[in-house]
Amino acid sequence: MLVDESTLNLWFGLFLFAFGACIGSFLNVVAYRLPLGLSLIRPPSHCPKCSTPVPVYGLVPIFGFAFVRGRCVACETRVSIAYPLVELICALGTVFLFFSIMTPLQFVGTLWPEAQMGTHLGMMRYQPLVLLLTRFFLFYTAIPLTLIDLRHRILPDVITLTGALCAILLGAANVMLGWKGALGGALLGSGLLFFIAKTYELLRGQEGLGLGDVKYMALIGAVVGWQGVLIVLGLASILGSVVGIAIGLGRRTGLQTSVPFGPFLAVAALIVCLWQPFILQIFFDDL
Ligand SMILES: [Zn+2]
Repeated sequence: MLVDESTLNLWFGLFLFAFGACIGSFLNVVAYRLPLGLSLIRPPSHCPKCSTPVPVYGLVPIFGFAFVRGRCVACETRVSIAYPLVELICALGTVFLFFSIMTPLQFVGTLWPEAQMGTHLGMMRYQPLVLLLTRFFLFYTAIPLTLIDLRHRILPDVITLTGALCAILLGAANVMLGWKGALGGALLGSGLLFFIAKTYELLRGQEGLGLGDVKYMALIGAVVGWQGVLIVLGLASILGSVVGIAIGLGRRTGLQTSVPFGPFLAVAALIVCLWQPFILQIFFDDL
């Protein structure tokens, strides 16, 4: 070996951290501009108040915020701490998700099987890569959807519906899920949530869940499969209730406080996705 494995892991981890931070920087742009109907590319990042472009050193992910001291260089308007935080979470999440699936050496092994002893055959060889892509995909869609739902109370179709289609394709490449499992999960997930939303509307006479949540559940369902759908919905409801009650008590507005459901679906989906191989294994053994 040219380098020992721990050195390789360290450098690869640093690369993943930087890569994740750049993705996070882009997702910040998506979350800010998409709901406003602005182009994702033009113009370059600028101050929303005085339109002064952000200097190059201010664009560095995570650290740019500190370089400009959290303010616009021209008019001193404060920059939200949410930007570097999202980039940091995205960077750490990218490193964590990668190492939750494989080591850098195994990664090289799946791409060039000759480099690794004991090669897998056919589709099985690519399964770790499919799992990795699926987790990255779920994480990188969850970030802008969470931010947009918190700020605007919407979940744009561009992400949820296009994402659901991508999720079904990724599911088709996953031998434990297959296209039937992914499609079934999408239909069951969105169908169940649609039913719950309509029932709530009939009983309470007001809208509790939006169609955006239903479409997002199609994406999530395609990732976790029909086996994971109920766990995601249950977990998201528990998380949503706990946080909703806590916020309601904090504001003394009682239990009438409404919180957006998208972020809870996102967190629940990520948790279930991490456990997915174990959940699917239970069903896989029966086949
Ligand atoms: Zn400014």
